[in-house]
Amino acid sequence: MNLNANPSVIDDLVIANHILVNEGVLDGFGHISVRNDRDPGRFLIARSMAPGLVTSDDILTCDLDGNVHDDQGRKTYVERFIHSEIYRCRPDVMAVIHSHSPAVIPFGVTGTRLRPICHMSGFLGAQVPVFEIRHAAGENSDLLIRNQALGQALARDLGNSAVALLRGHGNVVVGFSIQQVVFRAIYTESNARLQSEAMRLGEINYLTPEEAQSTSDMNDEHLGRPWEVWKRRVQARGY
Ligand code: MN
Repeated sequence: MNLNANPSVIDDLVIANHILVNEGVLDGFGHISVRNDRDPGRFLIARSMAPGLVTSDDILTCDLDGNVHDDQGRKTYVERFIHSEIYRCRPDVMAVIHSHSPAVIPFGVTGTRLRPICHMSGFLGAQVPVFEIRHAAGENSDLLIRNQALGQALARDLGNSAVALLRGHGNVVVGFSIQQVVFRAIYTESNARLQSEAMRLGEINYLTPEEAQSTSDMNDEHLGRPWEVWKRRVQARGY
C-alpha cells in the first residue's frame, strides 16, 4: 500500500469508521473520507464495504473527479461524488462524512429545519440546508449521489455550512479535521434527537446565530477530549 499519506491519518480514518458505527451514526452504510494533506486534489476513503469492518489495508485514494487510484483495481462507494465535489468547492474542508443517521431523517422530509438547541451543536449555524434531489435528478431517481453533477448540486446547497440534509436519504457533515467531522456527525444526530423531544414539550428556545458561532468555536478547542473516549469505547469492543 502506497497512499503517499501520513500513516497516522490512515489510522485515524480507520478508527473514525469504527467510532461512527459504535456511536450510531453509520451502520452497514455511509462513509468517511479525509483529504490527503500531501496532495489536496485527492482524498482517502475505504473501499466499498461496511465501515465497521474497515482496516488500514482497505483505504484507497480517490481524485476530485471520482476516479479511484488503486494498484489492486478495487472500487470505492458509488456515492464518492459527495466527497469529491465538496472537496472541490470547499478548500477549507479536510474531512467529510455521509451517513443515514436516523434521528436526522425527519428534518429532511418535513418543513421543520434542524437547528442548534444546545451548546454542543452550535456548528449547525442558523439552520441546516436541505438538498432536494428532485431538482437535479427528476422524479424517478434512487436518491443516491451517483455522479459528478449530483455531487455538484449537493455541494452548492451545502454552501458554507457544516451540515446539509439529503431529503429522504441522510446527511453530509464536513470539517477541518477527522476529529472535528466525527464530533459534528455525532452531535448532529444528538441534536436531532433532542430537538424532536423538545418539540413535543413546547416551543423551543434555539441558540441565536451568535451563540451558535461562539459555542462552535469553544468546542473546537476540545475536540481531542471526546475523541479519546469514543476511541476507547471501540477498543474495548475489540474492533
Ligand atoms: Mn447514502
